[in-house]
Parts: sequence; C-alpha cells; structure tokens
Amino acid sequence: MRYIEPHAHMVSRVMDDYQRMLLAGCAAVCEPAFWAGFDRSSAGGFYDYFCQLTEHEPKRAAKFGLPHFCWLCINPKEAEDIKLAEEVIALIPEFLKRPNVLGIGEIGLNKNSRNELKILEKHVDLAARHKQMILVHTPHLEDKLKGTRLILDVLASPHLLIQLL
Ligand SMILES: [Zn+2]
Repeated sequence: MRYIEPHAHMVSRVMDDYQRMLLAGCAAVCEPAFWAGFDRSSAGGFYDYFCQLTEHEPKRAAKFGLPHFCWLCINPKEAEDIKLAEEVIALIPEFLKRPNVLGIGEIGLNKNSRNELKILEKHVDLAARHKQMILVHTPHLEDKLKGTRLILDVLASPHLLIQLL
C-alpha cells in the first residue's frame, strides 16, 4: 500500500526514519511547523526554521525519492509572547511562494489563553488574505473540548468572513 504521511515532524527524525517510511509505502511527507522542544529567543530562529522546512528538509527527503511539503506558523506554545509571534507572522508571506509550502499550520491553542487566541486569529487572517489552507492543532494538556470550541468560534467570526469574501 502507498500512503501520504499527513503529519510528520521530520526535522526531529534521523535519516533511517525516511528509509523506514519508504519501506512502509510512503509516497510523500507533509510537515507542519511545531515547537522545537524549547522556546526560540527571536524571530531569526524561526526564519532559519522556515528555511530548514522549505530548503533543507526537502533535500533530505529527496535522497529517498520522497516529495516533502510543509506548513508554516508560530506554534501556540510560543504564541504566548505576542511581540515575538507578530514578528514571526510578518516573516511568513515571503515563504508562501516556495513550491513545497501547503499553507499555515499547525495553528490552534495550547492552554486556551487570551494571547494564544489573538495569535490564532492573526494566523487565520494571514491565511485568508493570502488564500492559504490552514492546519489546526487542538490542545494537548488543557481542556481539549473547550479549546476546539474556541478555535471553531475564531473560524466562524464575522471579521474573518469579511476577509474571505
Ligand atoms: Zn504536530
């Protein structure tokens, strides 16, 4: 059976994992931007990460004949810092034209905080303005149902509908 891997964080995987995915029938890989295991200290850290996702990782995947696609964002865990998040969101448009970019993601909520919600709205607004798809992440640790409802409220907001029209 051949399959498309919809959600793999390959930057944290070794080359053997690509080999095993290939053996399992993988035909293409999709990689959402995520938390790197630590909070990055500046937008420059995200610039380099977006280069990794759009330049370096596709080359690693190509060694196994695997097309590599990615989603770009600042993840909810680091979105608590509004100033940093706004600087990172401002970097994203220049990367959207790159051939392996699928859209904005994985966006959503982590602790369902006010700041996370504000940055989620900014990501959805960015996606609407640039006619991009979004990939949504629901909270792991806090109230998942409440977080999912909050995300749906953001997506249904009249403000965003105006942007989409
Ligand atoms: Zn993920």
